[in-house]
Amino acid sequence: MTTAFRPPVSFELYPPRSDAAASALAGTIDRLAEVSPDFISVTYGASGSSRTSSLDVLRYILHHTNVDPMGHLTCVGSSHRQASSLIREFLDAGVLSFLALRGDAPAGLAEGEEFLGDLKSAGELVQLIHRVQAERVPYRETPVPGVPAARQLNTQRTKVRIAVAAFPNGHPRSRSTSQDIDTLLAKQAAGANLAITQLFFHADHYLSFVQQARQAGVEFPILPGIMPVTSPTRLRRILELTGEALPSGLAIELEVEPTEQGQREIGIDYAANLAAELIAGGAHGLHLYAFNEHDTVLQVLERSGLATTAPTRKTTREPAPAREPAREPAPARTPEPRNRT
Ligand code: FAD
Repeated sequence: MTTAFRPPVSFELYPPRSDAAASALAGTIDRLAEVSPDFISVTYGASGSSRTSSLDVLRYILHHTNVDPMGHLTCVGSSHRQASSLIREFLDAGVLSFLALRGDAPAGLAEGEEFLGDLKSAGELVQLIHRVQAERVPYRETPVPGVPAARQLNTQRTKVRIAVAAFPNGHPRSRSTSQDIDTLLAKQAAGANLAITQLFFHADHYLSFVQQARQAGVEFPILPGIMPVTSPTRLRRILELTGEALPSGLAIELEVEPTEQGQREIGIDYAANLAAELIAGGAHGLHLYAFNEHDTVLQVLERSGLATTAPTRKTTREPAPAREPAREPAPARTPEPRNRT
């Protein structure tokens, strides 16, 4: 297989919710790994119920592919000590990339009721990940060149990659774009080195947000999050969860198309055009929400002209990631009302 030039891509998965889903997910990961993504991220449930299943998926990626696994972590419901030991567990498993999130209130909580633990924001979680890694690996031993069996202390630690969330159209609780950008600057100051955006439907929303963030001093790459929307039902659900504004053109096309296959084609084409516009506009790479299926996101890359293949599968095989008990569909994505002015 040949590898053509292509901007970095990454994919997002969620822990499986049944045995059948768990074995299907192993196949999905293998297929996604074939296009050499920069990383594959795995969501983390708001209640902490998916700790084990999230780690199982991350371990599968680590041991079966050459792709960097990225674990999502949230501040929801854990004490400082619990959060530290969770981070340590992920690091000890070999996960060195994180998406640090505040997380959302579990469904059914009354307005104003506390749902976070000791950590109150993604920025605090970023700091804690750095601290746990620093305490865990205070130094490394490396061979002394030319002196057999001799070791030297190297104080340069293995760096962790810590991504954070960004909201081109505003976090639902944010009052203005400048508040969103200030939050991003606070995350940068805390030690984040990458941002991944909430999904959006128009390239200029992302491009103008990035321009404003750069002007304000945000230096790390901001990866656009793209979600192929392949049915009117999925579109309604996504808008409900994210508070994003209705993309009327896409909504109408999906509504008037009578067949599921036709709707899928519309969603893939829309996402592929968006991807191509983003790269043409200067986006550093693309982060695709895969919904635990490889076919749709690979089609998006193919149609946007960004696909490439390379062998990345490791030879040792391990069992498929274990399933998570059934729970709410899809990772929490700001199910809060929009209150932007
Ligand atoms: P924070 O940045 O900590 O804060 C959220 C908002 O609070 C800010 O945008 C701002 O309005 C306000 N705020 C915080 N600090 C400041 C400050 N210093 N100054 C001013 N305002 C401030 N949720 C999950 O539970 N599991 C997941 O796996 C998951 N994956 C996600 C992946 C992506 C790519 C995205 C975009 C979101 C994901 N979410 C996930 C949802 C996320 O947890 C929610 O959107 C949450 O409401 C905000 O998280 P945050 O990390 O941006 O929070």
